[in-house]
Amino acid sequence: MKLPEHLGANLQRESESFPVLLSVDLTLASASLIHSHQRIILDSQPSMLKRIFNLFKSDTDGSHKARIIPRDQHKVSRKQISQSALRVIKQLQEAGFEAYLVGGGVRDLLLGNTPKDFDVATNATPEQVRQQFRGARIIGRRFQIVHVRMGREIIEVTTFRGHHDDAETTKNEDGMLLRDNVYGTLETDALRRDFTVNALYYDLRDFSVIDYCNGMKDLEKRRLRMIGDPETRYKEDPVRILRAMRFAAKLGFSIEPNTAKPISELSHLLLNVSDARLFEELLKLFLSGSATATFNLLRDYDLLSILLPGADAAIKAGDNLGLAIIEKCMINTDKRIRANKTVTPAFLYAALLWPALQAQFKKLSQQLPPAVAWAQAGQQVIQQQLTRTSIPKRFSLPMREIWDLQQRLPQRSGLRALRTLDHPRFRAAYDFLLMREDAGEDLQGLGQWWTNYQAADENLRITMVKDLSKTTGERKPRSRRPRKPKAPTAE
Ligand code: ATP
Ligand code: MG
Repeated sequence: MKLPEHLGANLQRESESFPVLLSVDLTLASASLIHSHQRIILDSQPSMLKRIFNLFKSDTDGSHKARIIPRDQHKVSRKQISQSALRVIKQLQEAGFEAYLVGGGVRDLLLGNTPKDFDVATNATPEQVRQQFRGARIIGRRFQIVHVRMGREIIEVTTFRGHHDDAETTKNEDGMLLRDNVYGTLETDALRRDFTVNALYYDLRDFSVIDYCNGMKDLEKRRLRMIGDPETRYKEDPVRILRAMRFAAKLGFSIEPNTAKPISELSHLLLNVSDARLFEELLKLFLSGSATATFNLLRDYDLLSILLPGADAAIKAGDNLGLAIIEKCMINTDKRIRANKTVTPAFLYAALLWPALQAQFKKLSQQLPPAVAWAQAGQQVIQQQLTRTSIPKRFSLPMREIWDLQQRLPQRSGLRALRTLDHPRFRAAYDFLLMREDAGEDLQGLGQWWTNYQAADENLRITMVKDLSKTTGERKPRSRRPRKPKAPTAE
């Protein structure tokens, strides 16, 4: 294999620094293995033999050798890359560091898609990166990254990750990585990434793509393959299970059998992930523009029982209407995202938790008046969901308003319709109502009535409300006269 110049240079540099090891190194001639040697020497000596054994092992299956795809053999072009990402890479290189474009940006460009964002990998430590850029902030504890702000864009810069072979102390008893701030080389970084198609690096020095994990082949075959042993990798970070769902749905990729196999069995590990991170991941799942496909995958892998237990139970109990409403919401969400329209998480959650709300309301309304049952059901469904994912108040409050308005929309007599129309959440609630009808719920033309009401002038609105008593028998609400004070009772 012909190495590009810069890798050759690395080889040279490292062989000069570590002559002792190179004398043991009879056959390990690839740049990637030399990279690993550097780590062996830098790390504690007792594990050296184990590491060397592992290196031989990895060499025999060949998976750790970098394949370099020259510029004329791939689709990535500099012109498609954000100027900000290019500037970050250039500046790091000028300061003497290695820096590459990696992750979704490279993957999506190779697929001919428009990347959502650009990630950079470097051998500079987070602190060194921070010192290079004025608008840079180190974020995260478990996994430190640097956010470099360039105008309106934020470029995520990560330091090459290293191996965790003998770092059991950084894992909990379920194998979950508690810290992941061991630094390494380009090669170890590639092996620490999640899927092979996410571990492709674009090198601005010669415009080549560097592939350590056979990502190009998987990209061609349109399949998602976990790097390393899938079970271990899911245990290290169970969110990778959700990332598998998201990428498979978004890219339309199959999940390679070994990568798919442990998912259902290990899904309970998602319960160990912080509820805030799960909330974020859940939103990403449904806001990626492929909510429908994602939702179907979540059902196929029985992950709804973990993420949305209320919806899961209701659907499994046969609530086909509830399921249809969620499915409509997923279709609408995808359409809005494709049209560059905003999607509010409150609306999304209102639909995802709707089947649970219905089931709980049915139960409670056997003993309680409807309004009380509705309010309590709403509260209980949110409580149950909070055991899995957080829902920040800025989303849960409007979500409850959307629900409450579903109760108010049928009540239109007197001034009620006008008041409901004035409600700040009316538009979302009206859309939700239309979605329920669209999913097959028979609300006796309520959606159309509200459509007409909004378009009508003042006089027509009055007539529409009057006509209601004829058609639906809905009565004007009793005017509430102040009660007479009770006559004092003699005690
Ligand atoms: P997107 O298009 O959604 O941004 P992405 O692949 O770029 O997709 P990011 O979340 O931006 O996803 O992460 C950037 C890269 O970091 C990934 O491509 C992957 O290589 C690596 N990565 C992110 N999260 C993990 C994880 N949990 N485990 C291992 N590697 C990860
Ligand atoms: Mg990304």
